[in-house]
Amino acid sequence: MEVRFLADVNVVKLARLLRVLGYDAKVIPDEDDNHLIATALKEDRILLTRDTQIMRRRIVTIGRLKALLVQDDRPEQQLRQVVSALRLDYNLGRFTRCLECNEVLVERAKEDMRDLVPPYVFKTQTEFRQCPGCKRVYWRGTHWQNMNHDLEQWQAGVRP
Ligand SMILES: [Zn+2]
Repeated sequence: MEVRFLADVNVVKLARLLRVLGYDAKVIPDEDDNHLIATALKEDRILLTRDTQIMRRRIVTIGRLKALLVQDDRPEQQLRQVVSALRLDYNLGRFTRCLECNEVLVERAKEDMRDLVPPYVFKTQTEFRQCPGCKRVYWRGTHWQNMNHDLEQWQAGVRP
């Protein structure tokens, strides 16, 4: 079964990187610890946090709530830790999720994107995906290529 995450507000960038890989990584802004824990339990999500207080909670120590204490403050190192601890797949489904709101992207026909993307992008790209939530449009541009390159490097174990 595919793992799903709930990221504490102190690891929001990590959540974005997990979304790049295609993992479901939810963030609830400004929630207290109790609500965070309740949500993770209810939705069967692994809690990612840098908060050692949460890790000392009984519900975590007895193993009822799965939680991972994120060690590093650099997002790429955080991603490595999570990938290695939970044996995640770097190739699960890159760029299938909205980086902003975690929704699964929907493939869109090129002709429908004419007014939604810059003219150069429309002219040069063929594949478009859109977030059903925030309506943001994604394509395989320079940003995508750079991100992909970084992921290949991290996967190969090259230090960023
Ligand atoms: Zn979105």
